[in-house]
Amino acid sequence: MIVGELNAKSILVKSNLPESDYVINPYVGCSFGCSYCYASFMGRFVKKKFSDWGGYVYAKVNAPELLEKEIKKLPNKGKGKVVFLSSVTDPFLGYEAKYKLSERCLQIIADYGFKGKLSILTKSPLVLKVLPILKKIKDVEVGLTITSTDDKISRYFEKRAPLVSSRISTLKKLNQAGIKTYAFLGPLLPHFVAKKDELDKVLKAIHETGTRKLFIEHINLAPYIRERMLKELKGVDQEFLNQFYSSQSKSYRNELNKILYGMLKKYKFELLHDEIMFHPEM
Ligand code: SF4
Repeated sequence: MIVGELNAKSILVKSNLPESDYVINPYVGCSFGCSYCYASFMGRFVKKKFSDWGGYVYAKVNAPELLEKEIKKLPNKGKGKVVFLSSVTDPFLGYEAKYKLSERCLQIIADYGFKGKLSILTKSPLVLKVLPILKKIKDVEVGLTITSTDDKISRYFEKRAPLVSSRISTLKKLNQAGIKTYAFLGPLLPHFVAKKDELDKVLKAIHETGTRKLFIEHINLAPYIRERMLKELKGVDQEFLNQFYSSQSKSYRNELNKILYGMLKKYKFELLHDEIMFHPEM
């Protein structure tokens, strides 16, 4: 793993993501190295190839100093705006123990009295370490990515990320602590149409944590993602790959959406963004 440090030019960056006005990414790269990750394009900022994704992390060591200045420029202390931590890295990588960049950024947001909404997305139980800070932020929600209920599957697709069982228990602990939560069910793994019971298990497990909001996304197989994923999943059988490719067809998505909408109703989940997201291949 290559670990480096750099100075960023800015940290509160305007975003084109749905329902996010700004993003904060305290690291470039992500050591969790999920095979399906769309963020591998970030390598161009640190002279890395798509295939290097997962093998490097650069800490933006000046992130807290930048945020301290940039947050003050938001009109009305950010009222009505949504800040998202993080879109192209995980904010709670193990390197937080050394750098504490996300923790320090959260402390700044809390101390400033930010009046907008802060949305966090992670795969890491380290988010629990910042619970006292989260409780001081006016409007904060924390999402955990849950892609299955099986640790073997999470280890396979999300090589160095915390196991899905630990993410499910993190979600439960956040709910018990009174923090608003959501689960990110994405990307939808390609076996779910064939194995509806697996999908039901995932939704049931999330429901049991107390979380009632879901953000759901189909898998994005843009060429650069597909190329890296094929390398990562080397040796996998053709039938499995065919399932991946079929997930890009409209009929597959419609079938899966139908199953999902039925399950959302069954468990009374609120679907964030009012639709199951899909990024067409480009
Ligand atoms: S945790 Fe998120 S940012 Fe990191 S590799 Fe996985 S999908 Fe990408």
